[in-house]
Amino acid sequence: MKKGLFASLILAPALLLAACSDDSGKAPDKEEKAVVYKVGTDTTFPPFNYEENGEIKGIDIDLMKAIAKNQDFKVEFKPMDFKGIIPGIQAKQLDIGMGGMSITDERKQTVDFSDPYFDAGITLAVKKENDSIKSLDDLKGKRIAVKKGTISAKYAMEVVKDKGFQIAQFDDSPSMFLDVKNGNSAALLEDYPVISYAIAQKDLGLKTVGERLTGDQYGISVLKGKNKEVLKKINDGLAELKKSGEYDKILNQYLAK
Ligand code: GLN
Repeated sequence: MKKGLFASLILAPALLLAACSDDSGKAPDKEEKAVVYKVGTDTTFPPFNYEENGEIKGIDIDLMKAIAKNQDFKVEFKPMDFKGIIPGIQAKQLDIGMGGMSITDERKQTVDFSDPYFDAGITLAVKKENDSIKSLDDLKGKRIAVKKGTISAKYAMEVVKDKGFQIAQFDDSPSMFLDVKNGNSAALLEDYPVISYAIAQKDLGLKTVGERLTGDQYGISVLKGKNKEVLKKINDGLAELKKSGEYDKILNQYLAK
């Protein structure tokens, strides 16, 4: 956090100066142009958020950058475990959360969500060679891997009594994938677009099975009731990106083929 504060202290005057000189000496119309919003992201979640060669990339990152550009604010990304994003917003260490975060009624108690920007849904995945597990009903006495703080973890906890499996919780998606590949857990629950992207990118030794179990949508989050202005900018920016075709361009860049 200290580093972030330091960066914004250094950056803010620099940006103001840049704005002045760009404008042939004219003072910038509003000081808040230099506002930097801290965005919490789960960078082990391609194609939405990930790190490659020391750079943070992905659909969420590109969308947020484009929204910020469109609405004239700056963003600084803060990589973290998914489970840290909402607490970070509550503690006001983060202004915005954007980590493939599904809009849920439970989360709406603490954050306000933007308009939805992606249709997701969770799915079961098992080892590629496994032909005996086709649904949660086949997991009795077996272990299922989920990621802490996610809707998948919640889903597993809701049906655990009925289905009779054990739950193992992980901090990030790659550890969960590995646990199933290594045969420690029999299956995992993950967002469909994420697990299918991971399988298409490299041989994870996994496959998805069954239908999508939820029909959730991703939203961008801010502290409940406190950030109406930021939320409006986000929604306005998102709507403009959808209208201009830039939204589709960003998605296609990661999802085409
Ligand atoms: N979409 C899921 C959720 O919101 C998972 C998000 C994630 O793992 N980054 O709970």
